[in-house]
Amino acid sequence: MSDTSTSVCDYISLATEGVKGLHPYQPGKPIEELERELGLTNIVKLASNENPLGISLLATAAIQQQLEVATLYPDGAGFVLKQALADYLAVEVSTITLGNGSNDVLDLIARAYAGPESEVIYSQYAFAVYALSTQSVNAKAVVVPAKDWGHDLDAMFEAITEQTSLIFIANPNNPTGTYLDTSKLKQFLTRVPENIVVVLDEAYCEYIDVSDYPDGISLLQEYPNLVVTRTFSKAWGLASLRVGYSISNPDVANILNRVRQPFNVNSFALAAAAAVLSDNEYLENGKRLNKEGLVQIGEGLAALGLSYIPSVGNFICFDVVEDGSKVYQALLKEGVIVRPLANYGMPHHLRVSIGLKNENQRFLDALASVL
Ligand SMILES: *Cc1c(COP(=O)(O)O)cnc(C)c1O
Repeated sequence: MSDTSTSVCDYISLATEGVKGLHPYQPGKPIEELERELGLTNIVKLASNENPLGISLLATAAIQQQLEVATLYPDGAGFVLKQALADYLAVEVSTITLGNGSNDVLDLIARAYAGPESEVIYSQYAFAVYALSTQSVNAKAVVVPAKDWGHDLDAMFEAITEQTSLIFIANPNNPTGTYLDTSKLKQFLTRVPENIVVVLDEAYCEYIDVSDYPDGISLLQEYPNLVVTRTFSKAWGLASLRVGYSISNPDVANILNRVRQPFNVNSFALAAAAAVLSDNEYLENGKRLNKEGLVQIGEGLAALGLSYIPSVGNFICFDVVEDGSKVYQALLKEGVIVRPLANYGMPHHLRVSIGLKNENQRFLDALASVL
């Protein structure tokens, strides 16, 4: 190719305003990348809130079966998975929208309900995809300051204007691990005008067993503007396959279905997700492991004199007081990958995902040695 600098067009400035302001999502560092860079082996990745159990055997079998028909397009309607979800969640099929990960669904919602004329509200420290989806449709992001690292629903309500079309709520929030209880959430939803779509992102809901954690699906009858999103990437252990979904009123699902790519979820993901729903043992093992790991890491951090944000998810955000990226880099040299949070405006915090018991210990030992 010839020298691109001689081009008469500046393809950066030709992009729409919102897109120009975007910074690509920063994923957790892949194990292979660290292997290449530092020549390390035996690396522990606790950076992307992935399930440490490995894949369910039911999912493996379903994927094997799909290999035989891999030349065919997937079922664009996702009939089998939608039916399985409808049974599992006790909802109507017409309320479900499938996505290539729940990130895809978040994007569909933004494309369907926000544009250059609209404002989209979300919290400071909220999941990074809300900003990406908002800006890519050239909507105005209204970022509401957090309270105790969590969503300040009163302030989010105050931020509503005539232009507000969409509100994103992560419950619990990633990366902070904070959650909103049933009464706070219902109070908020009751006050929000019905013409504003409220997305309740429940990516970690399967892990949670605190009694005042709201089940978004049970609120759908009462709040027709509510869209609940969930995923197979976390507690169900299928992050690489990319499959998530929303449950909403059927009219919203109808609209999301219009902006969706015809084959947005691949055959392997559809089959594995449908199969894994009947592996209750897998889910329960993961939950138990996570509960124990939260305690193990919490106690380990406290023993090191570090404070952390109490979390109900499968990860913990902790305060290293000094520059988090330095500690992150030092941990990499020990073969432990966690997540730096400077891009979330939390330069002194790191987020660690809950792993297997020995992985958690590796992390705690590495942290003790680098501090
Ligand atoms: C991990 C995560 C998701 C899920 O992403 P997928 O695209 O389904 O893998 C959604 N929301 C939050 C808050 C998350 O942390």
